[in-house]
Amino acid sequence: MQQVQTKKLNNLSFYNLIAVALGILVGIICKKTGNASFGIEQIKPIGQALVNLMSGLTVPLVFFSIIETIASLKGVKQHKKMLGRAAAYFLGTTVMACIIGIVVALIFKHLNLFKEIVIYSKTLVEDSKQIAFMQSLTNIIPADLVDAVLKENVVMILIFSLLIGFSISAAGKAGEMFNQLIVSLNFVIKKMVSIVVKITPISVFAMCAWLVSEFGYKRMGQLKWLLVAVLIGYVLHIVITFGFALKFFAKIPVLNFFKKIFPVIAFAMTSTSSIASIPVAEEVSHSLGTRDTVTSLVIPSGSVVNMDGTAVYLTICAIFFATGSGVSLSIWQMILMTFTVILAVFGTAGVPGAGFIMLSMVMGALKLDVNLIMLIYIVDKIFDIGRTCLNVTGDMVASVCIEQWCREAEKQN
Ligand code: ASP
Repeated sequence: MQQVQTKKLNNLSFYNLIAVALGILVGIICKKTGNASFGIEQIKPIGQALVNLMSGLTVPLVFFSIIETIASLKGVKQHKKMLGRAAAYFLGTTVMACIIGIVVALIFKHLNLFKEIVIYSKTLVEDSKQIAFMQSLTNIIPADLVDAVLKENVVMILIFSLLIGFSISAAGKAGEMFNQLIVSLNFVIKKMVSIVVKITPISVFAMCAWLVSEFGYKRMGQLKWLLVAVLIGYVLHIVITFGFALKFFAKIPVLNFFKKIFPVIAFAMTSTSSIASIPVAEEVSHSLGTRDTVTSLVIPSGSVVNMDGTAVYLTICAIFFATGSGVSLSIWQMILMTFTVILAVFGTAGVPGAGFIMLSMVMGALKLDVNLIMLIYIVDKIFDIGRTCLNVTGDMVASVCIEQWCREAEKQN
């Protein structure tokens, strides 16, 4: 059974890889032939529709699977331990992401590569006010009901499902019928997910073609050093933090792990939403041998509180703007920044562009001009692609590490 599922997901990795390559190719053709609008108006809606379909499944999936998981755990001690492990892992890797971000940014600062921002800061502030308002407007007004639930109530969904799960377990015999209903609903939702997951390559293709036709590569020019710094930060976090966790905590081959999680990375990269990626992430997590209880707790909660890519991005950008404004952050300010980043990351769900909004919170805490963030608004999508990939990878690494810790704890008992 496990083997069949793994084979299916290997095929999915392959199809997603082809989808990325084809999407980039079509995007380049659209851009070079002056047909970027075709990519934006005709191809993007196809991808967006499929991402919406996946997002629509996320809420019931998270809701029912957490209830089922909690209700099925026998002793309070057992799930307390698992939640404790997950919290420790999430906090540890977020702090690591901040440290890596600070080190990379300071190196770039000392190499004098973070200077250019001062040149455009004054002229763009006026424009930025307009975009900031429009940006906040689109973030405040949700596109549809499911979107509203996804964007505004994910934390509430987690809390409610935990509460219902605990209550079923406490109700004993009287809660059995309700529990059976939840188990059955959860089963049906999971079947729906496995059907929808099969068509993710189409959405990956369409979203890739759109991203390349709309954003191309030219816009990266002006802010190249910031982009390079953030990219280096992402890579270092993958190699150092994830590499270490996979080798020493999860004890699984690193390359094989990345090959297997490619469908999640491809979907996250193109949807730029950790929350929308939950259904794909749960499917892949199972194929990595992670039990149901771990998957259904770690993946949804990770998509809300575990955002290593966002943490790397926030610290590097904050130091970039401080340097550009002529401010040299003291060690205390960097500690304050790390705390703010942890709070921002824990308090915001994984939806497109969330990290950009969090940046204003970090800038505010450091008393920097919040308007400056608009300087990177036009390239934020590129940052978002990277940080979402890292965020979901972090959740996948967390699930295999926690699975391994559970196995070791079981052996000892
Ligand atoms: N888009 C990211 C995610 O969904 C959050 C962010 O913007 O940093 O994980």
